[in-house]
Amino acid sequence: MKEIKSNINIIGGGLIGAVTAYSLSKLGNKVVLLEQKPKFDHRKISDKRTTAISEGTKKFLEEINIWNEIGKHAEPIKKIQIIDRNQSNKIHFDNKRRDSNLGYIVKNEFILDTIYRKLQKQKNVKILNNVSIKDISYEGNRVILRQNNYLVDANILLASDGKNSPIRKIFKTPTYSKDYKKKAIVVNFYHSKNHQNTAYEFFFKNGPLAILPMNKHKNKFQSSIVWTNTNKFIDSLLSLKDDKIISILNQKIQGSIGDIEEIITKQTFPLKAHLNSKFFEKRVIYLGDSAHSFHPIAGQGWNLGMQDVESLYNLVKKYNSLGLELGDEIFCKEFHNKNFFKAYRLYQITDKVDTIFKVDNIIFNYVRFSGINLIEKSKKLKNQISDFAMGVNL
Ligand SMILES: Cc1cc2nc3c(=O)[nH]c(=O)nc-3n(C[C@H](O)[C@H](O)[C@H](O)COP(=O)(O)OP(=O)(O)OC[C@H]3O[C@@H](n4cnc5c(N)ncnc54)[C@H](O)[C@@H]3O)c2cc1C
Repeated sequence: MKEIKSNINIIGGGLIGAVTAYSLSKLGNKVVLLEQKPKFDHRKISDKRTTAISEGTKKFLEEINIWNEIGKHAEPIKKIQIIDRNQSNKIHFDNKRRDSNLGYIVKNEFILDTIYRKLQKQKNVKILNNVSIKDISYEGNRVILRQNNYLVDANILLASDGKNSPIRKIFKTPTYSKDYKKKAIVVNFYHSKNHQNTAYEFFFKNGPLAILPMNKHKNKFQSSIVWTNTNKFIDSLLSLKDDKIISILNQKIQGSIGDIEEIITKQTFPLKAHLNSKFFEKRVIYLGDSAHSFHPIAGQGWNLGMQDVESLYNLVKKYNSLGLELGDEIFCKEFHNKNFFKAYRLYQITDKVDTIFKVDNIIFNYVRFSGINLIEKSKKLKNQISDFAMGVNL
């Protein structure tokens, strides 16, 4: 059995685990990243989604020198339009006040490709692939992982193993969870009119439909739709030929970016949300989707996970500078206290927004209509909402 000693072990090399490994290695820590999938190869990536990156996340990516690469693939969002059922009831957002963008749309494959290229140059990072962790033990102040002829031990274990976290199952950490019994279909496509860097979110009875502006590809306008609907509807939509899907989508997007001309990719995702009752176990910290997952209505899941990563980065920096050992109970509790409430709040907000737009009766429709009008006319309310979307003051 090959023994590897490190300061920090990370299980799960997705969007959160990979950035965590890179950021903590930049602080001089010896990091081992264990991922169940084979060695990362951007040509084989199956996730064709885009991520709406907030201004707050961008700032942290700048601090750790990743943004200059990711930014090359990012399309800025300069305006957002929220549309309730039809074009007559709208809220417009822009960010002239702060003279910055409202966010950035980047394909997940570019984010991962950038981070993995950078990770491979870090001498203090070891990546172990095809390793699926099923067992954890302790020896004194060390956490031990034994798998595939490896014995990997460290002072702290970071679980970034996604929303179905096997690590959470090992510890039986309790969670609050909700199955929306819905799916999101993500469609990337070419269209006829310039999107003018505007993101749209249409709220329909069965769920929201977002249009996210992407950069031009092969000199054609490109965007991505994330549409939430009942499982039955999404399954039947997926069974149709592309020209039929295009005509349904064209009806829904009401000419906002011209006509959809060609579908590039389409994928579906089940909609479930959860929140761990605590973000740590003994010498183990949950990060990103292993700690929390949300309805994608506000495009904030990864952004909130990145706040976990930033807060961990600052905590490790403090402990390193004081010469303290990582991972003791005080360390883990401090991490929990800094991050749990933010996740709890986002869990509640995304859930309530989904409900508000879903209900369809005369009284509720009137209240919603009046609420939207009120927000559209109030600069203060609009500024607060756009700050929230940008990850500022969260
Ligand atoms: C339709 C949709 C749209 C979204 N859009 C946005 C958006 O616009 N903006 C935003 O901020 N967020 C968005 N999100 C949320 C975002 O995608 C997630 O929050 C993010 O991908 C979570 O990353 P993660 O690394 O925590 O988890 P994952 O990406 O799930 O990574 C977990 C990793 O752990 C590995 N793993 C699992 N078990 C083991 C094991 N036992 N041993 C070793 N490795 C293991 C897996 O192979 C995987 O690589 C969206 C989500 C959905 C569903």
